[in-house]
Amino acid sequence: MIAIDHIHKAFGATQVLKGVSLEVAAGEVVCLIGPSGSGKSTVLRCINGLESYDSGTITIHGQTVDVRRSDIHCLRTRVGMVFQRFNLFPHRTVLENVMEGPVFVKGESRAEARQHAQALLEKVGLAEKQTAYPTQLSGGQQQRVAIARALAMRPEAILFDEPTSALDPELVGDVLTVMRDLAAEGMTMVVVTHEMSFAREVADRVCFLHGGQIVEEGPASRVLSEPRNARTQDFLRRVL
Ligand code: ADP
Ligand code: MG
Repeated sequence: MIAIDHIHKAFGATQVLKGVSLEVAAGEVVCLIGPSGSGKSTVLRCINGLESYDSGTITIHGQTVDVRRSDIHCLRTRVGMVFQRFNLFPHRTVLENVMEGPVFVKGESRAEARQHAQALLEKVGLAEKQTAYPTQLSGGQQQRVAIARALAMRPEAILFDEPTSALDPELVGDVLTVMRDLAAEGMTMVVVTHEMSFAREVADRVCFLHGGQIVEEGPASRVLSEPRNARTQDFLRRVL
C-alpha cells in the first residue's frame, strides 16, 4: 500500500533522510523507532505530502506522492495523520472538530458527517463529550478526538507521530487501547513511538531509524528482543 523507495531529503546543507526504503502492506502495523533527530517525523511527513523529498519515490497504492501535484490534497485525505500535539480547533466542539474535514474537504452532507462522527466518538469512548470544547478535555481525550477526526476522512492508512509523548502517564493507556483496536480491525498504520511495549505487542514490524537511515528492521519481537545492530542495541538499552 505504501512504498517508499530510497528517498533522500535535505534541509539546507543537512541531509536528514539518506536513502530510506520502507514498504507497508495493507493491514500492516509498522512501528518506527529511533533517537530524536533521526528523521522519523520527516519520513511520516513525506508519506502524506506535508514535506517534499529530493530524490527517490513514495507511492500510495501505486500513486506517486509529489507535493507539486495538483491532486496532493486528495492524496492527503487518503492517509490520515495524528500528531504529538492534537491540533484540534479550539473554538469548535468535539463533534464539529470531527465533522469539519468530511464536510468541508470531502463535501459530505452534514447529516452523514454527523452520524459518522458520532459513531467514531463512541468508538474512541467519547460519545458523551460531543458538545464539549477541546480545552474542557484531558490530553488523552483530545488525542482520541484527533484519532476520530483522522478516521472521519475514511483514510486507507493512518500515520501516528508520537501520539502519546505529550500525555501524562496515566492518560497514555486509553489512547494506546484505541490504537490497538484500530490495528486489530486491520487499519494500516505507521507509528512513531517510544512505547516499546506497544510496539512489541501490536507492530508486525519494527524499523529502527538512525541518522536518516533504517539501520535495522524486522518482526517486532526479534528487533526488540534480539537487536543485531549495535546502534539499535544501544538505543534499546537506553529506552527499555
Ligand atoms: P525525529 O522525528 O526522528 O526526531 P525529525 O524528522 O523531526 O526527527 O528531524 C530530523 C532532522 O531534520 C533533525 O536534525 C531536525 O533538526 C531536522 N529538521 C526537521 N525539520 C526541519 C525543518 N523544517 N527545517 C530544518 N531542519 C529540520
Ligand atoms: Mg519527531
